[in-house]
Amino acid sequence: MKLFDPNLHRELTALLASGAIEDAELEAKWILEDAPSADAARQIAERRAKHEPLQYLLGEWEFYGLPFCVGEGVLIPRPDTETLVDAVLSRIPDRSSQQILDLCTGSGCIALTLAKHLPQSTVIGLEKSPEALHYAQRNQEMLNIKNTQMLEKDVLLPETAAAYHGLAAIVSNPPYLTAEDMAHLQEEVTYEPAAALDGGADGLHFYREITRIWRDALCEGGLLAYEVGVYQAEDVAAILSQNGFGCIECICDLGGIQRVVLGRKETVS
Ligand code: GLN
Repeated sequence: MKLFDPNLHRELTALLASGAIEDAELEAKWILEDAPSADAARQIAERRAKHEPLQYLLGEWEFYGLPFCVGEGVLIPRPDTETLVDAVLSRIPDRSSQQILDLCTGSGCIALTLAKHLPQSTVIGLEKSPEALHYAQRNQEMLNIKNTQMLEKDVLLPETAAAYHGLAAIVSNPPYLTAEDMAHLQEEVTYEPAAALDGGADGLHFYREITRIWRDALCEGGLLAYEVGVYQAEDVAAILSQNGFGCIECICDLGGIQRVVLGRKETVS
């Protein structure tokens, strides 16, 4: 709504606070700005008070300065993931004829942001879930980004990887939560697709498989860059090194957590 109504703002803040929403005042303001009517705002606040993710209720969320459509069935873009985008952008020059892949692309936030900032390159997002892919394609259209494709593919199948050669970079924020994490999810996160979160018993399943299956798809010196969960950096660095990657680096997010692990495919001599 265009006009700010202080009474309605107070009412929504109280509603959210009654559901123990931490930033009740701020979230009430966002809901007020976004909702088309007072009744719609009340309905959103009621659902938010029951801990549905605000991002799903608003239907749009910002990542790296761009708006992305989100809703049930797709992982909500997190600010931590901007560290991965920064790491790739500072290492990969923009070249026509160069291809970059984003595995498990979800909303497409990584692939589309890279494509926007590397306009001469082609960035391809692969996603297994049709629901999530639908959001990636919608975001591509909404942002009007042309140098990209969003495809429905299972990245754990070797035949998917066999179709690609000479890639400049592979980027991924795969599911990485452990079985223990999955058993203790924050209430909001339980609304997000488990398939986008569950990384197997120790959370490392996708790193092991992707690193092994996709190595041959990279060019010599090609970059493999992952987002990782808390305390996973060392293990993921070891997986890269065991699979013939060098120049391995771990990069911290703004919260000081080692959030990105990357390496370069080494030439086999
Ligand atoms: N960052 C997400 C979370 O902690 C997990 C995303 C993922 O598994 N890739 O909720």
